Amino acid sequence: MFNLTNIVRPNIVALQPYSSARDEFEGSEGIFLDANENPFGILNRYPDPLQKQLKQRLGEIKGIDSQNTFIGNGSDEAIDLCLRIFCEPGKDKVLTFSPTYGMYQVAADINNVELITLPLNGNFQVDFEQSLPLLQDETLKIIFICSPNNPTGNTVDGIETLLQNFSGVVVVDEAYADFNDASLLGRLAQYPNLIILQTLSKAWGLAAARVGMAFASTEIIKLFNKVKPPYNISSLNYTAAIQALADTQGFESRKALLISEREKLALALAELPLVTTVYPSDANFILIAVTDADAVYNTLAQEGIIIRNRSKVVPGGLRISIGTPAENATLVTALKNLSA
Ligand SMILES: *Cc1c(COP(=O)(O)O)cnc(C)c1O
Repeated sequence: MFNLTNIVRPNIVALQPYSSARDEFEGSEGIFLDANENPFGILNRYPDPLQKQLKQRLGEIKGIDSQNTFIGNGSDEAIDLCLRIFCEPGKDKVLTFSPTYGMYQVAADINNVELITLPLNGNFQVDFEQSLPLLQDETLKIIFICSPNNPTGNTVDGIETLLQNFSGVVVVDEAYADFNDASLLGRLAQYPNLIILQTLSKAWGLAAARVGMAFASTEIIKLFNKVKPPYNISSLNYTAAIQALADTQGFESRKALLISEREKLALALAELPLVTTVYPSDANFILIAVTDADAVYNTLAQEGIIIRNRSKVVPGGLRISIGTPAENATLVTALKNLSA
């Protein structure tokens, strides 16, 4: 059974968080002489430490309460905080399924937490027979699972089986969930051990602003707020996020365009002799396998077309982000020339 207090590091339970000037006085009117800010300038005031307006807007869009929302400096901040909240360095472990996003490994290494990696099966799905017995290990605190998965592009099935059979937390990285409409957000109330990561970096087109979200129980969100740097989202990024989230129509139409471009590109790629596999994608990228990944990668790079060489993790694997219609057409032409 999941019991939050059993899996949080004791030093985090005991932690007295930093209390900022903006935590202690919340009003917006008055003469502010409390934070050692400069009274002159445009960016002179510290931002809202709890990003209330942004959480409210996200809540309207996603149907999630502010108390169940954490905003991070990119999802990467949330990944790091998960490790720092739940894992005792040098003792606890985390689990992930490969091939997947490289940051889980790096974040675990930085925190001196052992990462166990189980391979996804031939369809890039979880092998439950192999993985469920491992979940009994009491030092295993977190499962990181990415769906739709990067770099494979597929939605991962059966995540609820992990949630039901694990007494640690399951962090579901849904960076690409805007493209697949299969988010587990609706299951938050059912699973106290579920943390969902999303981001404004992909479908919302805001990678430069570094705004990522974690959605979880109120108790877990309180832990995130306790451990995060007080002013972790800058006013510039905050404003950019609020502005982007105002344009839901633009969001929907750009998303639809990217999805239709993805399907078009998948068909075009499947026709090329040098492409051996086009893996199905629920994201804004496509993974393909080719006969000589390094050669294709290098030739495209020489022509100024940069894709991601993933052949070290998927044989012959190249990951292609969906660009503008013109960019995608240029890529297909270049690959055709290569095939000829
Ligand atoms: C792109 C991506 C993210 C986004 O990270 P940010 O720090 O929010 O930009 C998170 N997870 C995965 C799997 C990604 O591919």
